[in-house]
Amino acid sequence: MEARAESFVCRRCGACCRVPGLVRVDEADVSRLAAALGMGERDFVNAYTTLAPGRTGLALAGDPEGPCVFLGADNLCRVHAARPRQCREYPARWRSAAIEAVCQAERKRA
Ligand code: SF4
Repeated sequence: MEARAESFVCRRCGACCRVPGLVRVDEADVSRLAAALGMGERDFVNAYTTLAPGRTGLALAGDPEGPCVFLGADNLCRVHAARPRQCREYPARWRSAAIEAVCQAERKRA
């Protein structure tokens, strides 16, 4: 199959950060986020993470059916520069039908 290039311009609508689901965080994410928030890693883990189902790692805490704990009222990520890898890799490295259904980004296929 021929690969298709796609340009993706985020409209900063925050829709992807409201889709129900987990935002997994790994050790590097914890270090980066804790530093960005001026917290120790243990304090960050206690305050902002929870065990993912099946004890398969950590995920951001909060209502999994609601907006991300770091989504601001202005629709912007309050930790954007330090956001988790999962967030950085959308949509280049992974896709979700639920997010695709609400994403307002401009997409152009070459
Ligand atoms: S960490 Fe930031 S980019 Fe990731 S889901 Fe939360 S608000 Fe969105």
